[in-house]
Amino acid sequence: MKPAPPKALTYGPVPSRRLGYSLGLDILPFKTCSMDCVYCQLGACGKTTVRRREYIPVRTVLAQVRRALKSGARIDAVTFSGSGEPTLHSGIGRIIAGIKRMTGVKVVVLTNSSTLAGRANGRDLLQADIVVPSLDAATDPVFAKVNRPHAGITAEAIIDGLVRFRRRFQGRIWLEVMLVRGINDGPAHLRKLREAVERIRPDRVQINTVVRPPAEPSARPLTAAELERARKILGPTAEIIADFSRGKQPAAAPDASAALLAALGRRPMTAADLARSLGLSKREILALTRRLAAAGAICSVRHAGIVYYEPA
Ligand code: SF4
Repeated sequence: MKPAPPKALTYGPVPSRRLGYSLGLDILPFKTCSMDCVYCQLGACGKTTVRRREYIPVRTVLAQVRRALKSGARIDAVTFSGSGEPTLHSGIGRIIAGIKRMTGVKVVVLTNSSTLAGRANGRDLLQADIVVPSLDAATDPVFAKVNRPHAGITAEAIIDGLVRFRRRFQGRIWLEVMLVRGINDGPAHLRKLREAVERIRPDRVQINTVVRPPAEPSARPLTAAELERARKILGPTAEIIADFSRGKQPAAAPDASAALLAALGRRPMTAADLARSLGLSKREILALTRRLAAAGAICSVRHAGIVYYEPA
C-alpha cells in the first residue's frame, strides 16, 4: 500500500481582510485547541487540550515554508493559523526564528491567548511582527458560553496574561474581539471588555462577527448597526474589520481543482474569496465549483444570506 502523502502545512496565499495575501501555516493536527468556540470554522469538537508538544517536526514545517516562499506567488505575510491554537506547538518559537532567517515577509500569529496566561507568557512569540490575540469575554460566565475553554483557563488569567505580554512584546498587537449575537454583545459586557482593553493597550482592537459558517448554527452575527454600537463602547482604538478589497492574485494555480479543494479544506470560502485566492475569474470559479459539486467533492452552504463552499 502506498504511504499517505505528507500533510500540506502551508495554504494559500489566501486573501485576508487584514493582512493582504497571507500564506497560511498550519502546524497542528486538526482541531488541536485549548478552546471549542461556538463560532469556530473548524466545527465543534467537544474536546480541548492544553498539552504543548512538537506536534509536527520543526524542520518539516520550515522545509514547506521555504518551498512556498519560492513558488513565485505574491505573499505579504506568513500567518500561523489553521487547525487549532498554534502556540500549543512547543517549537513555534524556533519556527518563527527560522522563517525570519528566510524572509523579510511579516510573521503573524493568530492566538486564542490561552498560553499567554502561563508562566512562559508568550516568550515564543516575541520575534513575531504582529500578534493577533483573541479576547471575546471579560467574565467567566461569558467566556464559558462563547469560547468553551479547557478546564482551569479563566477570563481573568487571559486578560492578565495579555497585559504582561504587552509589556514584553515590541511588535504590534491587534486584539480581536469576536461578537456573537446574544452571547457577548450586551452593553454591560462590552463595557467590561473596554476596561480590559484599557489595561492591555493593544495597537488596535478589531471587531469581528460570525461572518463564516460557525461550529454551532445558533452562533449568529451582529448587524452592521450593532457592530457600530459595539465599536463606540470599545473605544477609540476599535475598528470593525473591513471587507477584503485587494487586487487580484497574479498567477493562477496550475491545477485549479486541487488548489480549490486545498483552499476549502482549510475554511469555507465564497466564490469571490476563491477567485482572489486562486487568481481565476468568478466565472471560472463558478464553473469549477459546479463540476466539483456534481462530482460530490464539495457542497455549498448558506450563512447569513451568503453562499460558501466547503468540502462535501
Ligand atoms: S480558538 Fe480558534 S481554533 Fe480554537 S476553537 Fe476557537 S476559533 Fe476554533
